[in-house]
Amino acid sequence: MKIYNTLSKRKEEFEPLEEGKVKMYVCGPTVYNLIHIGNARPMIVFDTVRRYMEHKGYEVNFVSNFTDVDDKIIKKAIEEGVDASVISERYIAECKKDMQAMNVKPATTHPKATEEICGMLDMIGTLIEKGHAYVAQDGTVYYRTRSFKGYGKLSHKNIDDLQGGNRSLLVTGEDQKEDPLDFVLWKPKKDGEPYWESPWCNGRPGWHIECSVMSRKYLGEEIDIHAGGEDLIFPHHENEIAQSEAANGKPFAKYWMHNAFLNIDNRKMSKSAGNFFTVRDISEKYDLQVLRFFMLSAHYRSPLNFSAELMEAAQNGYERIVTSVTNLNYLLENAASDTMSEDEEKLAQEAEGYIAEFDKAMDDDFNTADAIAAIFELVKFANTNTKQPCSRQFLQRLKEEIVMFSDICGLIVEKKQEMLDSDIEALINERQAARKEKNFKRADEIRNELLDKGIILEDTREGVKWKRA
Ligand code: AMP
Ligand code: ZN
Repeated sequence: MKIYNTLSKRKEEFEPLEEGKVKMYVCGPTVYNLIHIGNARPMIVFDTVRRYMEHKGYEVNFVSNFTDVDDKIIKKAIEEGVDASVISERYIAECKKDMQAMNVKPATTHPKATEEICGMLDMIGTLIEKGHAYVAQDGTVYYRTRSFKGYGKLSHKNIDDLQGGNRSLLVTGEDQKEDPLDFVLWKPKKDGEPYWESPWCNGRPGWHIECSVMSRKYLGEEIDIHAGGEDLIFPHHENEIAQSEAANGKPFAKYWMHNAFLNIDNRKMSKSAGNFFTVRDISEKYDLQVLRFFMLSAHYRSPLNFSAELMEAAQNGYERIVTSVTNLNYLLENAASDTMSEDEEKLAQEAEGYIAEFDKAMDDDFNTADAIAAIFELVKFANTNTKQPCSRQFLQRLKEEIVMFSDICGLIVEKKQEMLDSDIEALINERQAARKEKNFKRADEIRNELLDKGIILEDTREGVKWKRA
């Protein structure tokens, strides 16, 4: 499996720090509004990376934060006359709803900045002790950027160029800095703002420190993958590296992954520019699975331009897969026989070839565009080779393969109908009767039929128990 590493600007073979495990951190949203579909791109992309890794057998510890203390949150809280936490909690809840609707798995841990202040004070203290940070007169703590030798290694910028010509890249605005390049770790409170006590002043953290702290707390000092949108490379991720590596004395993340922008009219979609659609807006017009399909139809490192035409194309593409699974389900109900014929065995083997194609695409830095092309080829293969009567086993095999690929992409292609309790119990009774008559074939059929619908049976001494998977 190869991953493009922003740090080396090359595709590298993925070798986890610990065998069979992946420690992954993805910078999450600042929660002051409903998320827009630009924010949804990293969510969908890195959820797909996680799903593929899990499919490959890795145990993935996936951490993604919510930035719940920030100027924009505070501004909105003042406008509404409520506490900042009212705003952040509201939009965390809304964000989780959107994630679920896009079939983005919840992270193993979703830490919030306001709940990790202790860890931030601790890391800032260490950085001061080690000479990497200093306290200004007003109690602001700054990171001494030039004290970290590797500064610029992620964004491939030379520190002297930052200070010299390119003023737009300077971190500006504070006058008590030793150097314009220094950035804030802790800042004094202003009136009406939330604040925490610290040895330096009552105040709140700068933005970058939270990710260094949460990543260390939930994943350890060294992690496998750190990810986010490409706008985070500089300064956010560059500053995270400076903080973490200076504090821990170890390399921080092995692989740095960044998705390109979702654009609209070839400009980055963003709240501040006002050229955005929220995920909620899109959900009024499309099934969010279509949005997910749209995002995955391009490679994550290519810019993607949002347009109605591309969304229509995504809708058609997604429906093509859903229709094929629906057809297979219909054929399964009316299958000609149970087990595969010799010809079908050969075809089933041929179909397995698409697994290699799908994996090859995903192993090449998660090329979801090519992976989706492999799904389409399999769908075409299934449609062409099921025109004549087929066995249940053959149809099931084709369906499982299409559903497996779709699952890895996080695309729901089979709407599972919830069975009513009464229907489940009727089938269990029928199975018991079949067993009494020693009709084990029928009894097994019923067990499998229930299993397909996510109902698990357990034969116990007290009788048959069942639960939903
Ligand atoms: P923010 O709430 O602005 O900190 O953004 C949360 C995540 O969304 C970060 O990983 C950003 O890089 C990403 N992001 C924001 N806008 C876009 C966009 N238009 N396209 C792709 N990613 C974006
Ligand atoms: Zn971050």
